[in-house]
Amino acid sequence: MGTRKKSLILITVDCLRADHCGFNGYDRPTTPFLDALATESYVLPTAVIAGAPTYYSFPAIFASRMPLGLGRDVIGLAPGENTLTTVLRRAGYATAAFCAANPYISPRFGYEQGFEHFEDFLGPEFCMKGDPEPESRDRKRRAKQLAEGGPPDSGLRSAINRISRRGARAVGLGPVYDELYFQYCIRLASPPVDRMEDLRKFPSAEVIVDHALAWLTSATEAFFLWLHFMDPHSPYYPPAAAFQQLTGRDASASAARYLNESWNRSDLNVARLRRKKHRVVELYDAGIRAVDIQIARLVEGLKRSHLWDNCVLGVTADHGEEFLEHGRRYHAPVSVHEEIARVPLMIRVPGVAKRNVPASPFSHLHLAPTLLEILEMPIPDSFRGKSLWRNLREGMAWEDMAITECVFGCNNPFRATDRSGPRLLSVRDERHKLVMRVERSATEQLYDLECDPAEEKPHAVGAERPIGERLLQAAVTHIQRGISGRDAALRLKARLRELRIELRSGSL
Ligand SMILES: [Zn+2]
Repeated sequence: MGTRKKSLILITVDCLRADHCGFNGYDRPTTPFLDALATESYVLPTAVIAGAPTYYSFPAIFASRMPLGLGRDVIGLAPGENTLTTVLRRAGYATAAFCAANPYISPRFGYEQGFEHFEDFLGPEFCMKGDPEPESRDRKRRAKQLAEGGPPDSGLRSAINRISRRGARAVGLGPVYDELYFQYCIRLASPPVDRMEDLRKFPSAEVIVDHALAWLTSATEAFFLWLHFMDPHSPYYPPAAAFQQLTGRDASASAARYLNESWNRSDLNVARLRRKKHRVVELYDAGIRAVDIQIARLVEGLKRSHLWDNCVLGVTADHGEEFLEHGRRYHAPVSVHEEIARVPLMIRVPGVAKRNVPASPFSHLHLAPTLLEILEMPIPDSFRGKSLWRNLREGMAWEDMAITECVFGCNNPFRATDRSGPRLLSVRDERHKLVMRVERSATEQLYDLECDPAEEKPHAVGAERPIGERLLQAAVTHIQRGISGRDAALRLKARLRELRIELRSGSL
C-alpha cells in the first residue's frame, strides 16, 4: 500500500506586509488564527519577493523564475512553462484556483495553466459593486479636480473657491479651508453610502472561501488549491465585522471613503498625509483581519470534511504596502525597501513538528521547489530556486542572497514605453541589502538592516567594501545569467501570445 499523496493549499494575499502579521510580532491583533497555526508551522522570518508589484512577483511563486528572466517584454508565465500547478496536475492532482479579480494573475498572463478549474472573478457576471460605472467615475474625476484646485475654467464655483482659498491662506487657514472644501467635494461627488460592501472594489475573502469550500466538496483525491485574496489591497474597505473585531469600534463607510479619498490625493505633502496614516492603516489592518477570519473558516471546513490532516498549507503575499516610510503610498514599482520586499511566509506540514527557522533570507524562488519536495514530487530542471525543505526540517541556516527586481516605474506593463525604464534591483543577505538602479550611471546604496532596519541611512558601496562588493558581484552575475541563460523557446512562445492578443485587439 503506497502512502497517500498530500494535498496543497497555497494562499497568496495581495499587499500583505510581513510586519503587520501577529506571528511576525505585530502588536495589533490582525492574525489571531494564523498566530495559533504558526505554533505548528514553519514561519520564515525573512521571506523575500522576487519582484513587485503583482506582475513581477508571481513568476517566482509559480515557476521559480525571476520576473525579468524571459526579457522585460514578457509579463507573467510563458505558455508551456513548468509551474507548481503543471507538475501537480501531471501527477494526477485535482487543481483549482480562485483569485479575487486581480487581472495580472489571469489567463491573459498564463496563470490558468495546469488548473482544471480557474476562477478569476473578472468576467462580466462578477462586475464588482464598487467598480465605478463610467458616470460615477466621471463624477469622481470632477470631484478630484475640484478638490485639488479645480480645472482652469471650472466656472463660478471654482472661481469663488480660488478667491476664498487665497483669503484663507492669507490668514493662515489654508490647510483647514482646503480640508473642509475637500470634504464638501466628496459629498457633492458621491451618493451617501451606509455599507463598506458597497464601496469594495474586489470580491472579499469570504466570497473566495465560499467558492473554495464548494469546490472542495467534490475533492476526493489529492488536490492543489490556490486562493488569492485582495482584502488588504487599496482602496481599503474592510468588512465591517473584521473592523469591529480589530478595533472594538463600528466601521463607518463614509469615514472610510473620506480616508481613502484623502489618502489618494496627489496634492498633499507627506506631513499632511501623515496625519491620516494611523486611520488608513487601521482600515488596511482590518482587511488583514478579514483574511484571517476567512482562512479560519476554510480550515474549519477542511477539518469537517476530514481533509485537513492531509493538507500542506502555504500562506504568503505577492508584495507589501507602503505607508509613507519612504514618503510613498501603495506599491508602485519604484521601491524595493523592506515594506514592499519582505512578506510573510508560513508553511504548515501535517505531522511534522515545528522547529526554529533560521533568519536566512528565503527568496520566493525557493517556494515552489520546497513545496514540491514536501509533497514528494519531482522538481523541474527549469526551476531556478532550490528546495530548502531539509534546512527547514533540521533548523539549518542556508547561504543565500535574495534578489528582488522590477522595471522602475512600470505601472502599466501593457504599455511598451513603461517597460523600458531602468531595472531596479536589490540583493540581500541576512544582514545587508544593496539597492541599485541599473542605468547608464548606475546608483547603488547599501543598507545595514541590523543597525538600520528602517533603511534610512544608506552607505555608499565603497564604504563597506567587502560586503558591498560581494552583493554587487551577485547582482552582476544575476544580470549576466539572466541574459545568457534565457530560455529562448519559452520567450518566443510568450512573445507570440502577446502578438496574438495585440492583433486581436487591433492595437497592431
Ligand atoms: Zn499585488
